[in-house]
Amino acid sequence: MAERPIIDVRGVWKRFGDVEVLKGIDLAIAKSEVTCIIGPSGSGKSTLLRCIAFLEEYSEGEIYIEGELLGFSLENGKRRRVSDAEVARVRRNVGFVFQQFNLWPHMTALENVAAPLKLARGIAREDAEKRARRMLEKVGLSHRAEAYPSQLSGGQQQRVGIARALAMEPHIMLFDEPTSALDPELVGEVLQVMRDLAGEGMTMAVVTHEMGFAAQVADTVVFIDHGVIAASGSPQQVFRHEENPRLRQFLQNYF
Ligand code: ADP
Ligand code: MG
Repeated sequence: MAERPIIDVRGVWKRFGDVEVLKGIDLAIAKSEVTCIIGPSGSGKSTLLRCIAFLEEYSEGEIYIEGELLGFSLENGKRRRVSDAEVARVRRNVGFVFQQFNLWPHMTALENVAAPLKLARGIAREDAEKRARRMLEKVGLSHRAEAYPSQLSGGQQQRVGIARALAMEPHIMLFDEPTSALDPELVGEVLQVMRDLAGEGMTMAVVTHEMGFAAQVADTVVFIDHGVIAASGSPQQVFRHEENPRLRQFLQNYF
């Protein structure tokens, strides 16, 4: 039997009041697979990632992370919100990288990576800093460990953001438009770090407008439109986009 997907999204709906943002999303991501999520602005891409990280509570359906139901328990078919501690346990191995880097301005790169290890994981300072140095090295920033965010380029700041997420030793990395806030000449260095990560077998879901990256790195490309998965498949399949007029129209902006 095939291995269970590491992320398994089944029939997920998300509503904000009366607004239906996700309308029955089914998405399975296998271990070490890279899934790129594309689609127009406002189609629900961020909301989907945020639901997978339980930064948003999904309204209906199920999300399993490494086989465990996220956020809820099912008793006699009834869904019940579990405790925050239980949520934290299930999503412990999920790392998140945002479009905005969200670094602490008064801390060095090293401290930005080490602080969550101390605060969230209770790791002693010396060990946390050792691990933080290793992670900065991984993203090519050993030489900038003592720099403050304001002294770093946007690309370097985002690489610190990635190092910070990796320091928590996630099994899954979620990226929400990680290069969209960057000047064009800085996009490549961040994509290279992500490419390396994919090469090491990290399971990744990446919301991106970088179609070259998606074509090259993704195992699966998912096109979200108005809260539904309107197309999915290998990059070759999706980028050929013969049948779906919405997808064809969307891709015209890129190719
Ligand atoms: P995308 O990332 O694809 O651009 P989003 O997931 O951010 O799209 O948003 C999808 C839709 O959900 C948008 O119409 C947005 O206005 C709406 N939305 C997102 N977050 C909220 C919220 N907290 N409250 C109300 N509506 C929201
Ligand atoms: Mg978004």
